[in-house]
Amino acid sequence: MIPYGRQDISQADIDAVIQVLQSDFLTQGPMVPKFEYAVASYTGARYALAVNSATSALHIACLALGLGEGDYLWTTPITFVASSNCALYCGAQVDFVDIDPKTYNINPLALREKLKKAKETNTLPKIVVAVHLCGQVCEMDKIHALAQEYGFKVIEDASHAIGGTYQGVPVGACQYSDITVFSFHPVKIITTAEGGMALTNCANLAQKMDLLRSHGITRNPQLMTKQPDGSWYYQQIDLGFNYRMTELQAALGVSQMHRLDEFISRRHLLAERYDSLLADLPVIVPWQHPDSYSGLHLYVIRLSLDKIKRTHKQVFERLRELGVGVNLHYIPVHTQPYYQTLGFKEGSFPEAEKYYTEAISLPMFHTLSFEQQDTVVEALRKALYE
Ligand SMILES: *Cc1c(COP(=O)(O)O)cnc(C)c1O
Repeated sequence: MIPYGRQDISQADIDAVIQVLQSDFLTQGPMVPKFEYAVASYTGARYALAVNSATSALHIACLALGLGEGDYLWTTPITFVASSNCALYCGAQVDFVDIDPKTYNINPLALREKLKKAKETNTLPKIVVAVHLCGQVCEMDKIHALAQEYGFKVIEDASHAIGGTYQGVPVGACQYSDITVFSFHPVKIITTAEGGMALTNCANLAQKMDLLRSHGITRNPQLMTKQPDGSWYYQQIDLGFNYRMTELQAALGVSQMHRLDEFISRRHLLAERYDSLLADLPVIVPWQHPDSYSGLHLYVIRLSLDKIKRTHKQVFERLRELGVGVNLHYIPVHTQPYYQTLGFKEGSFPEAEKYYTEAISLPMFHTLSFEQQDTVVEALRKALYE
């Protein structure tokens, strides 16, 4: 089976991890700061905090921005559940904004309309999570302008988008947001096995997230309520978690960062190749906004169902039978049973729901060969017509 995504681990990656295993520190050593420095330098963000997953990063990002009971977080329904679950962890409420039918990202026009109404009913969001689906960056300039007008904070869920740029600026620079989050799960662009990172340019937010990822404990006398009792002394000054990244993970991350640009250009080459190989098939290939240079975590096609005699499910299942490990990103979050118990109804976000009935993620990863790609396209042709 050709998977839809997979990691690429080099001998240098393996050596880097073994070196840490033989060193003094398996956790809380020098590699985590080194990885943070590498990602901060690459993106241009002032502060970077490595954690054990993007889910953890989203949680501490929300807490650092003060999200709590009575507050709202808004995001897109076409995302992984973690983008909205982070609000529920904080006791806040979630709402969704429908997607743009061209980019599949949160639609800034729909966002504006919803904000207008929310202002009247006093239910404006405290945070909007902009998810860069497939790596294509959301229209951040428009979202930022709305954030200024309506006074909400912006988190970029850039789990798909490390290595990309927006208006020429690296994703992660937080040019138009308060905090940006990356995921280093093995299917993502670079990996640390499990892992994530939160980036910000705000010293105060960085300090809060630093505390929250490690129990709310500090060894910095300037943050303590009194002089330290002695050199053993630490204080818990907030309620945090153990969301730390290990040294092994960070070493893998540092090593993977060396190949990030190579990974991204390969993904672009593969995407261009797909675009031309699929040109005569009844599918819609990904449209790219000119402001965004995508990280291309995913390559999602939409079936033109009116032009074929097969259903979406038939095409999907046939591809799997033919050895192509296609996937579907994502099931609209508001249709998940857990979200239905919170009161969400099917039919509320029609563009997202329509997308779900047509979308298929084709294999897209650094080591995908042209031969494998040709096999995928041949299989798709069969699945659509035979
Ligand atoms: C993968 C992913 C996450 C969660 O990442 P983890 O590192 O697995 O916690 C969150 N949001 C999006 C959009 C993702 O794709």
